[in-house]
Amino acid sequence: MPSFTTPSLVLRGMELAQPWAWWRLPEEYRDRRQVALTLDDGPSEVFARRVLDVLKEEDAQATFFVLGDRCEAFPAVLRRMAEEGHGIGLHGDTHLDFTSDETGPWQDRLRANERQIRAALGPELAEKAFLPYFRPPFGHLSRDWAEEIIAAGKTIVNCSILPGTLVTWPGKSNWIEETDKVAARVKHDLHHGAIIALHCGKQLPEHANSPYVNCGIFNMEQAAETVRAVCRVVREAGYEFSGRLP
Ligand SMILES: [Zn+2]
Repeated sequence: MPSFTTPSLVLRGMELAQPWAWWRLPEEYRDRRQVALTLDDGPSEVFARRVLDVLKEEDAQATFFVLGDRCEAFPAVLRRMAEEGHGIGLHGDTHLDFTSDETGPWQDRLRANERQIRAALGPELAEKAFLPYFRPPFGHLSRDWAEEIIAAGKTIVNCSILPGTLVTWPGKSNWIEETDKVAARVKHDLHHGAIIALHCGKQLPEHANSPYVNCGIFNMEQAAETVRAVCRVVREAGYEFSGRLP
């Protein structure tokens, strides 16, 4: 087992400090060996498509928390997520911090995010896949805003397993080892009703044909294999996926 500091204690502390958000599946799921898989920061052209291939091969359903600007850039990938039975939730119009003063009122940004998702999906797929769930970028949200967002009919969803970043710096870390580490963290932290957060890219339109996203940080092929490793470790431990968020 590789050595690492599990973030699960940090997440549990945040769960206590932010009781307004979902950190795990609702109560009725917590006596079952079920977990939910979530993927943030998509859609992206190549990376998210690979992740979708992996999810299909592994027969796993997930919820994607997507960025509005990426929905505008990669609408076909968003539609594929919806067509293949995954859920689509809100993650901001861009990935900028919602608590920053410089980015405009959060109400406008959340509305823009939903508009961008619905425009890319069209009414039929939006009806099928859109979930009124919001995961704030970086998990940053104040209590006041959280209460307003909930009053506006949205559920705030965080996670109970954040198995480490999928990021590797070429030449600085061994990606195979990184995949093992992510899978080992998930195995270590697994619990009934867990919500696992992974990523599927912050690919910019100008990097659509590049083997890397995030200006050269990700190796997408291997990052998609990390999603596969997580799917397998969950099932090997006797858990099953709840499907998209309930
Ligand atoms: Zn994110």
